Amino acid sequence: MTQIQVVEKILSANDRIADENRAMLDAAGVFALNLMASPGAGKTSLIEQTVKHLSNRLRIGVIDGDIATSLDAERAAAAGAVSMQINTGGDCHLDAVMLHSALASFSLNDIDLLIVENVGNLICPANFRLGTHKSVLIASIPEGDDKPYKYPGIYRGVDTLVINKIDLLPYVPFDMENFQRGVEILNPGLLTFPLSCRTAEGLEPWLTWITESCS
Ligand code: MG
Ligand code: ZN
Repeated sequence: MTQIQVVEKILSANDRIADENRAMLDAAGVFALNLMASPGAGKTSLIEQTVKHLSNRLRIGVIDGDIATSLDAERAAAAGAVSMQINTGGDCHLDAVMLHSALASFSLNDIDLLIVENVGNLICPANFRLGTHKSVLIASIPEGDDKPYKYPGIYRGVDTLVINKIDLLPYVPFDMENFQRGVEILNPGLLTFPLSCRTAEGLEPWLTWITESCS
């Protein structure tokens, strides 16, 4: 087989497992998010804020993909979620098989919302469907406004965009118009939530979206 055929075979096997994951989630009535971002954009912070504000209304599970540590899973648990760690053993993304084995040992009937924190990386996580209902990309102000132009694949494939750390806009050169123009070309009309996990500004519409998606 050529290299391309091998890659296509891996991806179609991944898609089959992703469909199984979706069926498991749907059977248990769980709404699931795949959270993707570069390292430091605020995936874990957004999870903490979401759990903190919604755990009185929703039962929330968090599955954390990380290359080696369980620090993020511990933060999610401390915020009040049922959390589990997937150590990818050096892999730079989660795939449907990894999520499948995590789901098998998770009691899905006891949660309403599952947040999957992917490995911090803007490239390959976009290529592996997990079977979650929505994929969410977190961009952040300090990363710069050129990211949609540099990483078009991930911007093109997501359902929702969070722009985190908007409290830093006065201090960091970030051209919001240039950023949003790039996003619009790749993913017209993309649902976008500008917010700050640190100050909680803009958090409410994000929480409302999640709550409505779970009902
Ligand atoms: Mg994290
Ligand atoms: Zn990877």
